[in-house]
Amino acid sequence: MKAVLFHQHGGPEVLEYTEFPTPQPQPGQVLIRLHAAALNRMDVMVRNGWPGLKLDLPHINGADGAGEVVTFGAGVTDFAIGDHVVINANIGCGECEFCIAGRDNMCLNWHLLGETIRGTYAQYVALPARQLYKLPKDFDYHRAAASALVYQTAWHSLTKRGGLQNGETVLIVGAGGGVNTASVQIANYIGARVIVVGSEPTKLDMAQSIGADILIDRSKEADWAKSVFIATNKRGVDVVVDNVGTTFMQSLRALRKGGRLLTVGNSGAPRFEIDNRYLFAKHLSIIGSTMSTLVDFKEVMDLIIAGRLAPILDKTFPLQEAGLAQERLWKNENFGKITLEIA
Ligand SMILES: [Zn+2]
Repeated sequence: MKAVLFHQHGGPEVLEYTEFPTPQPQPGQVLIRLHAAALNRMDVMVRNGWPGLKLDLPHINGADGAGEVVTFGAGVTDFAIGDHVVINANIGCGECEFCIAGRDNMCLNWHLLGETIRGTYAQYVALPARQLYKLPKDFDYHRAAASALVYQTAWHSLTKRGGLQNGETVLIVGAGGGVNTASVQIANYIGARVIVVGSEPTKLDMAQSIGADILIDRSKEADWAKSVFIATNKRGVDVVVDNVGTTFMQSLRALRKGGRLLTVGNSGAPRFEIDNRYLFAKHLSIIGSTMSTLVDFKEVMDLIIAGRLAPILDKTFPLQEAGLAQERLWKNENFGKITLEIA
């Protein structure tokens, strides 16, 4: 098959568009001919590498993908050849205490497609059947691929971990990223009031167009925690979605007493200081999570298929130009998801 892979970590120049053996489906697995993949910042982090990361090289990036079923291993009964599917990249073992309890994103032998195992920047991928969601035949592969990782991540964090309720106010730090745009839509769907802080007028306008109620331009209002405080009549927000990390102090200041800070990543930096006095004196919770469960994935994909949540698509590149696509993402030039067309 054709794939984009790398033999060593480094910049976009390490990516090669080349031949790689087509995977064969094992018992319980489905072989998918991919037509679209979607990018995540994690792809670039894995390509760059970090101390302690040990991959079976060459590695293939990509957590998100959609395509059609071409064949399957023994024991697969839920899928037929030609079915259109989208992939859930959160791979639990299905056997440990957490998987059995339905908490497969806490699996003891957890894998993330494209991070710990080879991913979707390729014509084919083989995965356990439970990782697949069947799409209507007329649903666009790119929209499906663009939805899977970010919507399940935001859905699990906001609704299951954060318990966001109708009528609450949520602050989302950052206007452009995939999880943030999904969070704006999900918060809006739940019936929460949504405040977005961002630095680019065009991205703030886009956030408003998908349901943000109040916009704060941090290039003009550097002390945006204060702006949030004023916008909430000095009460503070119930929930903050902060996937930047280095902004935690501002986020903690923006919360009401008893508020929750939700985090699923750190686009700013992984290490930063916080003032512990805010945590205890304001009764705050910092709640982390990653990805979601099989149940959450189905819940949120059902809403996407029904049109209740709609992924924002940025730009599509051919698979061969995955390096250019990653550069666009890494430089934050996108609003919404970048996808790859896999011919
Ligand atoms: Zn498990």
